[in-house]
Amino acid sequence: MKGRFAPSPTGRMHLGNVFSALLSYASIKSKGGSWILRIEDLDPGRSRPEYSRQIEEDLLWLGLEWDEGGMDNSDFCQSRRSGIYDHYFKLLQEQSMVYPCWCSRADLLAASAPHQSDGRVVYPGSCRPGFANEAELEIRRQQALSNGRKPAWRIICPDKNVTVKDIHYGPVSMNLASDCGDFIIKRADGTAAYQLAVVVDDALMGVTEVVRGNDLLPSSPQQAWLHESLGFTAPDFAHLPLLCAADGRRLCKRDRDMDMGELRRRYSPQQLLGLLANLAGLQPTADAIKLKDLVRSFDWNKVPLENIIL
Ligand code: GLU
Repeated sequence: MKGRFAPSPTGRMHLGNVFSALLSYASIKSKGGSWILRIEDLDPGRSRPEYSRQIEEDLLWLGLEWDEGGMDNSDFCQSRRSGIYDHYFKLLQEQSMVYPCWCSRADLLAASAPHQSDGRVVYPGSCRPGFANEAELEIRRQQALSNGRKPAWRIICPDKNVTVKDIHYGPVSMNLASDCGDFIIKRADGTAAYQLAVVVDDALMGVTEVVRGNDLLPSSPQQAWLHESLGFTAPDFAHLPLLCAADGRRLCKRDRDMDMGELRRRYSPQQLLGLLANLAGLQPTADAIKLKDLVRSFDWNKVPLENIIL
């Protein structure tokens, strides 16, 4: 059994990130499994090694030691795995499952209305072979080329219902064509997109349980289907409520008052674990707790489903 924490090193962790890290650790450790740390530094513009270092230090300060991975192990850093993602991209390409998309941001905005409450848009298929208007497609292609723009690559989503049984939220269903639409698996700058990288990594790293915030719940049917398409077995998924500020908006890395720098000034590791255990429903008060006692008390039935207002 293997769990993972897969942070994007784009800033210092805040309370919500640590909540995810801790519960992914507690869930897998309560079953005697191992826990890996994967650095999701695919976005060269936003990821920084200083942030990876800081994430590691903050995890260790709390006592969250990973069994495998970390920034000094290049096998667990996405920025060092592009050859692996290319291999799987080519497998999909050989099955004619992908196509280049020449749409600009403006084309996409003009063509689609926000679909779901989370603001995701369903790609209207403007560049999909056999669906696109060839003459219009050629114009978009020429415009992009003359602007020096390369295409992103999308995967063709069939009209298929996919259901994932989330350990915490229960079944989550999605029709790939109508609820999701062809999604990007390789970005125009040539790097693998999140969905491809995360699926390939979870599969090759032997991850059996994915624990993360419920903002990624809608991605799990997409990922389960990608696992299947690549001949992998999908891991179990367990999503967590998000921690939100008093006004209901989820914490983000700009909320400096909830970042680990401030939290480490205010609390000892066991006090912070106590606070997190209380938020997770594992203990009725925020009394300080030892990591091993927290792991022992871990039970998905106690963890709330609703997002948690701080
Ligand atoms: N790297 C993503 C993040 O930091 C998490 C991806 C995942 O857990 O699947 O939000």
